[in-house]
Amino acid sequence: MYSDDHVIYGTGFAFSIWLIFPQIGTLGFVVTLLSTFLIDVDHYFYYIFYKRDLNPINACVWFDKKVKDYLATPVSERPAKEQGVFIFHSLEFLSVIFILGFFVPYVHFVLIGFVFHVILDMCFEIYHKVNFKRKLFFCWYFLEELRK
Ligand SMILES: [Zn+2]
Repeated sequence: MYSDDHVIYGTGFAFSIWLIFPQIGTLGFVVTLLSTFLIDVDHYFYYIFYKRDLNPINACVWFDKKVKDYLATPVSERPAKEQGVFIFHSLEFLSVIFILGFFVPYVHFVLIGFVFHVILDMCFEIYHKVNFKRKLFFCWYFLEELRK
């Protein structure tokens, strides 16, 4: 899913949570809201690593083109294309955040925002017939890479 869509849906989601559970307070709302789209910073890290460039605008343009190219590729040819490693989107990382939340205040709000984001990504990827297992399961990615 594209970043601007995440901001729009994330804002609606965070407001809904705040309306239903006003006791989360302003900070809980802000942390949840930011988490719904800042999770994609792992895409930026991937871009820095892959392209050796720190410019975030170049990263956005590059990913936009990459997603469009990927979606334009016939489904049968997609497994050969590189999807990237997005650590924050993995179930393993979300599990760490879940455990960390018992020790650090507001981390569970980060988890709520991240999980909302990942669910939106999965809906997008299922709709566009993208193999989301590589992104969702970090271990799956490495197992597939080892098999190459
Ligand atoms: Zn994402």
